[in-house]
Amino acid sequence: MQACTLIARAKINLYLEILGSRPDGYSEVAMVLQSIHLADRVQLKRRHHGIHLRCDHPEVPTDVNNLAYKAAELLQKECHSSAGVEIHIEKHIPVAAGLAGGSANAAAVLVGMNQLWGLGLTVGDLQSLASRLGSDIPFCVQGGTQLATGRGEILEPLADWEGIPLLLAKPRHLGVSTAWAYQAFRSLQEDSTSGSQPYDTVSSLPQVLVAFDRQDPQALANSLRNDLEKPVLATYTLVGELRSALRSAGALGSLMSGSGPTVFGIMPSLEQASQTRDTLRRQFQDVDFWVTQSAPTGILLEPDPQSLSLS
Ligand code: ATP
Repeated sequence: MQACTLIARAKINLYLEILGSRPDGYSEVAMVLQSIHLADRVQLKRRHHGIHLRCDHPEVPTDVNNLAYKAAELLQKECHSSAGVEIHIEKHIPVAAGLAGGSANAAAVLVGMNQLWGLGLTVGDLQSLASRLGSDIPFCVQGGTQLATGRGEILEPLADWEGIPLLLAKPRHLGVSTAWAYQAFRSLQEDSTSGSQPYDTVSSLPQVLVAFDRQDPQALANSLRNDLEKPVLATYTLVGELRSALRSAGALGSLMSGSGPTVFGIMPSLEQASQTRDTLRRQFQDVDFWVTQSAPTGILLEPDPQSLSLS
C-alpha cells in the first residue's frame, strides 16, 4: 500500500468526573467518551524518508508540535524504521474546542501507518503507544462509546448507541487550553477544601450506564456531568449562555464537552437539531453550529477508489 485516507472522528464527553490529582501531575478521572460523525480527513503517503505534514487550518502547527507528527515520529522510533510519511490533514473539527481534534489526527496516523508500513501492530499495541502521546488518544484509536478511567487511558467499551441526535455550538473565536481548565479546577477545589484528596463528590456515573443500557435519551440527558464546566463557565460566560440556550430551544439536556468551549445538546431528533441550529444562529452570530450524531467507531479507513472500481 502506497497511500491511504482516514476519517478521524471527534469525541464528546457525556460524563467527566474528576476524582483527585495524581502524583504524575495528571488528574484521576471517570469519563464516558463518545465518538461523533464530525471528523477530519487524514491522508498518508509513503516517502523514502522524513516526516512531512501539511494542514489546511492556519492555527494548526505543521512541525513536531503537531500531535499527528509526534505519532509518526514515535512509530518510526518504536519500529526502528527509516521509512518516511507525508501527512495531509483536512480540518473540519474546530481547534482547541474540547473535541479531541488533535488526538483524533494522531490516532489516525497510528492506525494508518500501521497499514501503510505493514507493521502488524494490534489495537492493544497501538493503544499503548497512543497513551504515551496523550490521554485522549487511546480512546480515539478505539472509538465508539467507552468508559475511561485512570488519566483517561484505561478503556472499557459500553454498548454501541449509534445515531443519538446532537447539536454542537462553539464560540467562533474562543479556544480553551485543556491544561488551563484542569489547573483552574484544582485551584477552585483547593480554595473550597483546603486541598484535601480525593475530591468528595457524589457520582452519577451509574445513572449514565443505566441510560446506555436502556438507550434512553432523556435518562442520559438527565445524568450528564462535566466537572470542568465550573471553572470554564466562570471565566467564559458565553459558554454558559449557549448551554442554557440549547436547553431552552428544545435540547433534552446540554453540557460542555471536555475542557470546552464547545457545548452540545442531546436533541429529540435530527430535524429538531437543524431547526434549533437555524434559530440559535440568528441569536448568536459569532458561534458555529454543527448537527451531528453519535458514531460507533473513531478511525475509519476510507475505501480506496481504485479498489472500488476494480470490484
Ligand atoms: P482535547 O479535547 O483532547 O483536550 P482539544 O479539542 O481541546 O483537545 P485540539 O483541537 O486537539 O484541542 O488542539 C489543542 C492544541 O493542540 C491546538 O491549539 C494546537 O496548537 C495543538 N495541536 C497539535 N496538533 C494538532 C492537530 N493535529 N490538530 C489540532 N490542533 C493541534
